[in-house]
Amino acid sequence: MIDEHTLEEFRQQVRRMAEEKIKPHAAAVDDDARFPTEAVEAFRSMGLNGLPFPESLGGGDGDLLSQVIAVEEIARVCGSSALVMLIPWAALTPLVWFGSDELKREIVPPVAAGEVGASFCLTEPGGGSDLPGLKTRATRVADGWLLKGQKRFISNVGWSAWYAILAKVTEKAYGVFMVHRDDPGFSIGRHERKMGVRGSPMADIFLDDCFVPDSRVVGDPEKGYHYMMETLTYTRPLVSAQALGLAQGALDEAVNYTSTRTQFNSKVSRFQMVRGMVADMTIAVEAARALLYRAVSVAGANDSRSRSFASMAKTFCSDTAMSVTTDAVQLHGGYGYTKDYPVERMMRDAKVSQIWEGTNQIQRLLVAKHAFQD
Ligand SMILES: Cc1cc2nc3c(=O)[nH]c(=O)nc-3n(C[C@H](O)[C@H](O)[C@H](O)COP(=O)(O)OP(=O)(O)OC[C@H]3O[C@@H](n4cnc5c(N)ncnc54)[C@H](O)[C@@H]3O)c2cc1C
Repeated sequence: MIDEHTLEEFRQQVRRMAEEKIKPHAAAVDDDARFPTEAVEAFRSMGLNGLPFPESLGGGDGDLLSQVIAVEEIARVCGSSALVMLIPWAALTPLVWFGSDELKREIVPPVAAGEVGASFCLTEPGGGSDLPGLKTRATRVADGWLLKGQKRFISNVGWSAWYAILAKVTEKAYGVFMVHRDDPGFSIGRHERKMGVRGSPMADIFLDDCFVPDSRVVGDPEKGYHYMMETLTYTRPLVSAQALGLAQGALDEAVNYTSTRTQFNSKVSRFQMVRGMVADMTIAVEAARALLYRAVSVAGANDSRSRSFASMAKTFCSDTAMSVTTDAVQLHGGYGYTKDYPVERMMRDAKVSQIWEGTNQIQRLLVAKHAFQD
C-alpha cells in the first residue's frame, strides 16, 4: 500500500514530466493526427509503460490508484497520449491475470519497456454494446486455432505488436487469443479520421484464417468472456481517469484565461456569472475524482459493488469531462473556438469518453442492474 504522501509526490513528478515533455506537442499531435512519439519516450524515461505490470515481468507493480493518477495527469495536457499509455495496460490485463507464465514472459516485458504496444479487440462492425453478439470465430485445428473475423475501432494499431482478441469458440463460449501483427492472416485496415484523440491510430483489424497456437490462448479457451468482464471492471477506472484529466485540464485553462482576459475594464474572472460557472466546474471535477477514487477502493477486492462503482465512475467522469470542457470553451469566448487555445481539442477529446469501454447508456444499465439486484 503506497501512502498518500508518496502518491502526491508521484502525481507531482508525472505532472512536471507531462507539462515539460508532452504538453508542448499536444496541439501538433492533434492537428497532424500523428502518433505521440515524444510522449512514449517520456513514459519510458519514467517507467510508466509498465506501471501496472508485475516487477518480475519488467513492470512497476503500481496499484490501480497510482495508474489512475498517472493517466489523469497525462490527460490533463494531452488526451491522445493518455490513451496511448492506458490501452496496452488494459489489453494485457487478461493475460497478466489469467495467462500462462510462458506467454506472459514472451509478451509483457517488451510492452512494459515501451518498445511496442498492445491493443484490446472487442468491438466489431455489427456492434460494440452487444458484446455477446460478436461474430469472430475461433475454430479448433491441430495444435491451435484458426481465427476468422473483423474487429472495429481498434486503438493504437500499428504501434501495437500484440492484439488481445475476443472470439467465439462455441455458440455460447468465447476465448481470448493473443495475436501478433506479423501472424499470417492478420491485417490492419485504413486509419479512421476521428473527431478527437487523434494521436492514437484507430482502424479495423482483419483475421483471415489467422493461426494461433495453443500456447497463445489466455487461460481456459471457454472463459474469455468472463476474463474480459473482469478486465473491464478493473480498467473502466482508467478511462474514467482519462476523462477526469481532460476535465481538470480544461478547468485549469478556463481559470487562467478568465484571470487575464479583460472586458468592461475588469478581469472576466470578476464577473459573478463566470465565477458561478467556474465554481460548478470545480465542484463537478472534485465530485468525479471522489467517485473515481471510491471505485478504485472497491475494485478487484472481491467486492460485489466493484462493477457498479466502475460504471458509475465511468459515467460521471465522462459526463463531467463533456460538460466542463464545453464550459471551458464558453469561458474563452470566440478564442475558445479556435485552435490557438487547447480547450476545443479537450472538448473533442472528451466526447469519446462517453462512448467507449461501454457507452454511458450501457453503464447506466449496469448501475441499475446492481441497484435492482437483478
Ligand atoms: C475513439 C474510439 C476508440 C475505440 N477503441 C476501441 C478499442 O481499442 N477496442 C475496442 O474493442 N473497441 C474500441 N472502440 C469501440 C467502442 O468501445 C464502441 O464504439 C462502443 O462500445 C459502442 O459500440 P458501437 O459503436 O457499436 O455502438 P452501438 O452498440 O451500435 O450503439 C449505438 C447507440 O445505441 C445505444 N445502445 C445500444 N444498446 C443499447 C441498450 N441496450 N440500451 C440503451 N442504449 C443502447 C448506445 O449507447 C449508442 O448510443 C473505440 C471507439 C472509439 C470511438
